[in-house]
Amino acid sequence: MNLHQLSAHKVIDLVSKKKVTAYEIIQDIYDRIDKVDSLVKAFLILNQEDAFRQAKEIDIKLKDGEQPLPLAGVAVAVKDIIVTKGIETTCGSKILKGFYPPYNATVIDKLMKAGAIIIGKTNMDEFAMGSSTENSAFGPTQNPWDLERVSGGSSGGSAAAVAADESFIALGTDTGGSVRQPASFCGVVGLKPTYGRVSRYGLIAYASSLDQIGPITKDVVDCALTMNIIAGHDNKDSTSADLEVPDYLRSCQEGIKNIKIGVPKEYFIKGIDIEVKDAVNKALKVFEKLGAKIEEVSLPHTEYSLPTYYLIATAEASSNLARYDGVQYGYRAKDCKNLSSMYERTRSEGFGKEVKRRIMLGTYALSSGYYDAYYLKAQKVRTLIREDFTQAFNKYDILITPTSPTPAFKLNEKIADPLTMYLSDIYTIPINLAGIPAISLNCGYTKSNLPIGLQIIGKPFEEETILRAAYNFEQNCEIEKRKPEICSIKDKENVE
Ligand code: GLN
Repeated sequence: MNLHQLSAHKVIDLVSKKKVTAYEIIQDIYDRIDKVDSLVKAFLILNQEDAFRQAKEIDIKLKDGEQPLPLAGVAVAVKDIIVTKGIETTCGSKILKGFYPPYNATVIDKLMKAGAIIIGKTNMDEFAMGSSTENSAFGPTQNPWDLERVSGGSSGGSAAAVAADESFIALGTDTGGSVRQPASFCGVVGLKPTYGRVSRYGLIAYASSLDQIGPITKDVVDCALTMNIIAGHDNKDSTSADLEVPDYLRSCQEGIKNIKIGVPKEYFIKGIDIEVKDAVNKALKVFEKLGAKIEEVSLPHTEYSLPTYYLIATAEASSNLARYDGVQYGYRAKDCKNLSSMYERTRSEGFGKEVKRRIMLGTYALSSGYYDAYYLKAQKVRTLIREDFTQAFNKYDILITPTSPTPAFKLNEKIADPLTMYLSDIYTIPINLAGIPAISLNCGYTKSNLPIGLQIIGKPFEEETILRAAYNFEQNCEIEKRKPEICSIKDKENVE
């Protein structure tokens, strides 16, 4: 049996019933990584020693008759922007090379307590700024469906790891689409929870009013399972909401008859790939068959989302990234004459091009004389965008759109032109500005066998509704479950 191909819930079932050991699972996962990661490059760092030790502990406890933990033996890959005690955490940046955090993020503690095993840290665009993982200081991740294409970003390593069966679950972060867009490019499930639903303690900040941690998984049940563990209030994060967390697994089991779906017309305009449009329209037919009521809706301020996001996100980033000055963390330029030259050289040598571009943009937008014209105005427009969603949700339970206007693009195709790169998040960014939850899941393939993502958007703190809709779709869509070519080639080699 190829254990690495299983879903997380199947793994839990097997480990809990002692049909396989957690150790065997982890062994198989590292064998898989060994075989394919030189092609995919999803991981920056592996955590083998700890992982095997944890697996052994889980097996001993099970042997001793202890109750199985809810994620017993499940390998989890973690985006390298979430701090992990004693495991190097770089944010995909040279400036944090050599940073070994002294504590775990809350999500890591929660996952480990539930029996999950952190197998390594995944590649990402530097400080989560990007849509292709090409802004990583350590080279891009390749898409397992086509190694000449990007895996998406900024959580491209996490999405590729799950798609290539190198991990059962991965954590990503989503500031403007970074969980959902790579999930759609890699044909896996990715959820951005409501702002405040999941603790961000231990998440290295990019844009604090937008950032959220979210799961990337092989199917919707695994996504619900992960949310059951990571969601909830945390005293250590003052932006986390003190609200009860429903049982997301249970909500998946309910039907969606009479659910009201709005389809925003502004999301089906020029620039959308025809195959993406067709796949989403086909998906809507599945929802209709399941008894949903579908109508067109308007979100009139959609066109302002991108400029609004790039003012707010860069402004917040310019402030958040001020702490990397060579004094406390990671990289410090050598042989500096004085303090200011140390700051200057550390930052110019340590940060990549896109990060510098954004720090400059953000600093400009916040500077005196321009603040009102740019930052303040962007905040006002953000309110209008949020209002669009509030209005729509007065009438509809969920909204459905494509996740990204195109499938995965080629490596190097957009890197020279930041504006075209930014456009790849046009359907995901408004959701972060509004602070609401959204999930991306596969809804078909292009003729050239690239996955296409469907986005389901929900009301604040109603993750259960989008998970329920996603589960019903997944179970009834009759889309053939494909695996990326890389898997079959490599597994065949394995058999021979
Ligand atoms: N691609 C968007 C950006 O570059 C979103 C990134 C993210 O969600 N972290 O900012």
